[in-house]
Amino acid sequence: MIYLDYAATTPVPRAVADAMYEVLTCRFGNPSSQYPMGLEMKKRVEGWRRTVADALGCEAKYLHFTSCGTEGDNWAVAAACWQNRRLGKHIVTTAVEHSAVLEACRWMERQGCEVTYLMPDRSGRIAAEQVLEAVRPDTALVSVMMVNNELGTVYPIEAIARGLAAKNPKTLFHTDAVQGFLEVPFAAGKLGADFVAVSAHKIGGPKGCGALYIGPRVRNPRPLLAGGGQEDGLRAGTEATAQIAGFAKAVELRRQGLEEKLAHLRDLRAYAAETLSAIPDLTVVGDGQAPHILAASLAGWPSQNIVNDLGSQGICISAGSACHQGRPSHVVAALGLPRRAAGGVIRLSFGPETTRADVDACAEALRRHHDQRMPML
Ligand code: PLP
Repeated sequence: MIYLDYAATTPVPRAVADAMYEVLTCRFGNPSSQYPMGLEMKKRVEGWRRTVADALGCEAKYLHFTSCGTEGDNWAVAAACWQNRRLGKHIVTTAVEHSAVLEACRWMERQGCEVTYLMPDRSGRIAAEQVLEAVRPDTALVSVMMVNNELGTVYPIEAIARGLAAKNPKTLFHTDAVQGFLEVPFAAGKLGADFVAVSAHKIGGPKGCGALYIGPRVRNPRPLLAGGGQEDGLRAGTEATAQIAGFAKAVELRRQGLEEKLAHLRDLRAYAAETLSAIPDLTVVGDGQAPHILAASLAGWPSQNIVNDLGSQGICISAGSACHQGRPSHVVAALGLPRRAAGGVIRLSFGPETTRADVDACAEALRRHHDQRMPML
């Protein structure tokens, strides 16, 4: 199998699975239990929190484990609107956010909020000025993702945060950094964002685990789950110790030789862009700067057919976000591409294990698809 869909999810290295197995079978205590095995687990959870917080560039006390990136995004949107409920009911976000943010905003609309969805230009970019212009005195929340999961576009989070602080300091700022964590450099504590959501399974950790940075400007954050007081009373529920252990181990592993890994990804992305561009009717879509994501379009050939054809040959790529399940992507729609180009958008995404030979095999399969199948769009 040739796996070129790391933005959807990543394989778990043996050492991560081993760390989880040990916690599941030997160190299975509940961190709230008062005997030594429970107390030890409490200590370990705090150690794992420090590991993830250190990689995220923030103090451990601001980092809360969640069940996934989606949960972090949902929590951030709800908590920001709650804190600023007296300031106003206006939200600024983008039309290219992951559905974890978009659907949370739509829910807030049903609760009486007004949401401004900013459109990108044809290459997927949204400028900081565009975001700041949309901010009003009654804007409770601005939510802009760090890296787009379908295009690899990197958004100007620091510039937005600086501008917000000058224009409307009470507005809270959330960034979905699920595709940015350990892919592009940033430090949550210095970014100027009040919320930063990340997910374990995009970096070699297990599915079903994430974290949300909640910065000091969020006073008395609204708890996500009420109950036994875990996660500082903000997200109750017995800690998912094995998942958290796996998350921390994955972070540790990913940080080893991180610069070389990122250089490898950048090289692969450039190589893939060049190799794929040699295929007739194929163009690179967007000007994504993230090292691990490349979007391209085989104009005229429906992307779902491409994905199915390559899939049947053991090559895994995506027709946009894995979360769309066959529906047309809202991200591609927002680019305003011509119909034939929009219908043929595919995404390749890379991980540290990906090789140039993987890219070559994918390019050959795409060329065959182009040569042997009739265009249908
Ligand atoms: N945000 C972005 C940008 C993503 O790419 C994803 C997953 O694809 C998510 C949020 C959701 O993360 P999770 O799968 O952990 O819920």
